[in-house]
Amino acid sequence: MTETLAAPALDGASDLRVAMQDLAERLPEPLAPLAEIAYNYRWSWMPEGQGVFAAIDPERWEWINHNPIRLLQETSTAALRRAAANEPLLHRAQRVLEGIRADLARPALAGRATPHNPVAFLCAEFAVHRSLPIYAGGLGALAGDILKEASDLGLCMIGVGLFYRQGYFQQRMDRSGYQHEYWFPLDPDRVPAALVTNSSGEPVVVEVPLRGRGVLVQIWRIDVGRVPLYLLDAHRPENDPIDSWITSRLYVTDRPTRLAQYALLGIGSMRALEAMGIDPCVVHLNEGHAALAPLEIARRRMAQGADKQAAYADGRERTVFTTHTPVGAGNEGYDTSEIGAVLDDFPREIGLDFEQFLQLGRTHPDNPHEPFVMTPLGIKMSRAANGVSRRHGEVARQMWQPLFPERPVDTVPVGYVTNGVHVPTWISPRMRGLLDRYLGDDWLLQAADPETWKGVDDIPDEELWSVRNELRADFTSYARDRTIANRLARGDPDWYVEAAERGFRPDRLTIGFARRLAGYKRIYLLTLDPSRITTLLGNDSQPVQIVLAGKAHPNDEEGKRSAQGLFAFKDAPHVADRVTFLDNYSLATAGHMVSGCDVWVNLPRPPLEASGTSGMKAAVNGGLNLSVLDGWWAEAYDGSNGWALPGDVAYDHAVQDGRDAAALYDLVEHEVMPLFYQRDERGIPTAWLQRVRASLRTNGPRFSATRMMRNYIDNVYQLGVTI
Ligand SMILES: *Cc1c(COP(=O)(O)O)cnc(C)c1O
Repeated sequence: MTETLAAPALDGASDLRVAMQDLAERLPEPLAPLAEIAYNYRWSWMPEGQGVFAAIDPERWEWINHNPIRLLQETSTAALRRAAANEPLLHRAQRVLEGIRADLARPALAGRATPHNPVAFLCAEFAVHRSLPIYAGGLGALAGDILKEASDLGLCMIGVGLFYRQGYFQQRMDRSGYQHEYWFPLDPDRVPAALVTNSSGEPVVVEVPLRGRGVLVQIWRIDVGRVPLYLLDAHRPENDPIDSWITSRLYVTDRPTRLAQYALLGIGSMRALEAMGIDPCVVHLNEGHAALAPLEIARRRMAQGADKQAAYADGRERTVFTTHTPVGAGNEGYDTSEIGAVLDDFPREIGLDFEQFLQLGRTHPDNPHEPFVMTPLGIKMSRAANGVSRRHGEVARQMWQPLFPERPVDTVPVGYVTNGVHVPTWISPRMRGLLDRYLGDDWLLQAADPETWKGVDDIPDEELWSVRNELRADFTSYARDRTIANRLARGDPDWYVEAAERGFRPDRLTIGFARRLAGYKRIYLLTLDPSRITTLLGNDSQPVQIVLAGKAHPNDEEGKRSAQGLFAFKDAPHVADRVTFLDNYSLATAGHMVSGCDVWVNLPRPPLEASGTSGMKAAVNGGLNLSVLDGWWAEAYDGSNGWALPGDVAYDHAVQDGRDAAALYDLVEHEVMPLFYQRDERGIPTAWLQRVRASLRTNGPRFSATRMMRNYIDNVYQLGVTI
């Protein structure tokens, strides 16, 4: 009965089908195809995808954050009836559905990875779509892009993460710029998820012993094209409420709970896959959170009779590890008592005494004062490790060299795969339409090939400029509306709200800066020299407007203070109608910003930006990067495709900040503004557009997720296939 290419028996596919049929039954019959589309996020990266939902009830679609399940559940009967009689809409839906079905029916990539033995991609967060808020920032955005690109390439991959019942926090800034956080419940029945059940219709449940109790977890499945994403959920009636809370919030602030999350992600994920009949050929630990997974593989081998050495070798042989940041908060340490209290018997079950176990999480195993950190564990328990840009590879080799005391730094076995972005997700429909005309029909399939992008040189100035103008106009109108709503909600005075109404014009040079408000991202450089920023904003012949956004981690007081520092300039001249901070940075905000901004600024303190990906998203939309030569930009900048600030490592931070802020103002004032406003007789900034073309041509192929996934498949996963 077993056939290797058949799907595993308990993989949740039939549960998703049942959920979809249940939804279809509640709709007027002609709308049944929409229920099928809604249960696979594949629609979200098809050009016609979101239009078929938006057309049913455009206002509700915005209001419910583009959530197709809620749309179909909550739209009034009258509106559904109207949609059911809308022939063009039904035709479009049919086309989208056929596109999805054809995509799912393509043969899989050859090689070792199969539905029974896929690459399992483990991550604490996934930014698949704005309607599924289980992500915080760049790590999640990258994870979502990897699943989508794997689907496009036909790679047999599955994602494994946690189903956070309250997702990540929503942000509201008060009038002083202080961040307030609140959480919404994330109802699994209101997203395209289905609980994985067994042949008797009972949820598949696995147990993970934590804190002296057996914690039960169930499994949700969400489809991202051809890639299933499995999310573990401790919200079971049998569990103690303390244990149900483990999967409450992403990066929950309570430390023992956070450690328990990582244990579920590492140990629980392997048990869940086993229960579903899935035996991954490669386990990709995307950041250290899931680093207990290879130890769980070893435990199972020993339980099956393997000797300890062979069992550990097998765990290591299957595991690859990607480190995503040199920043301390991303390489968090736990002390002995915390580890003992949460993991209780696990070390003994894997044949180690407690001290031996602790040594695995230390850089210097014999130093009893060193905390237990997941990153050294991940590096020790994997057969391959990598950073996420060329420069980050160097930084990571230096940082983790003590793990390999006999090796010189440059031979430390930590390589790099530079991040990339899923182009169909991040390119705006307008830019995609333009590139479709000049790069050839199938250009997205060859997005990693530099030849593909040569066609950008053939795009006439008028067309390129007109698309950039449209994108900026869409964005400034969005930014204006959001600004007015944010200012009203913050209780700003009338004149301040009205300034937003007058400001944010479609023809002004628009600069964007949006990212997590972590200290090393140095958002405060923007206002470090108030007199210069005032001069810059006061230039009426070359007007500039600045749009900002970003969340600080709820515990990160330094990050929160950096936003307040910006808000202290609220009342400075020209700020009210030319500078705005948009609350609640998310995939939705990011999509608008990276397509509409002319210049995308990044000011990390080198060498702390492992990669950065938002600038790549801006680049594929024809935005220009102005960034510190750190992370991806250190290998992307070539003198013609954007602007750069020095990337050297300085020990006097105050001196470095002063120098970098001055360099930033100089560049903006003397190069960026004049170039943008230097127009020919047609009103077109031809020299600016030359830079835009250079940026598209050089960054497009190198920082696409297609190139990144090829690197992972060829160099890291080693699946016996090259693409
Ligand atoms: C792309 C993205 C990020 C990552 O941006 P960086 O350049 O790494 O700071 C963070 N958050 C969201 C919502 C994104 O879309």
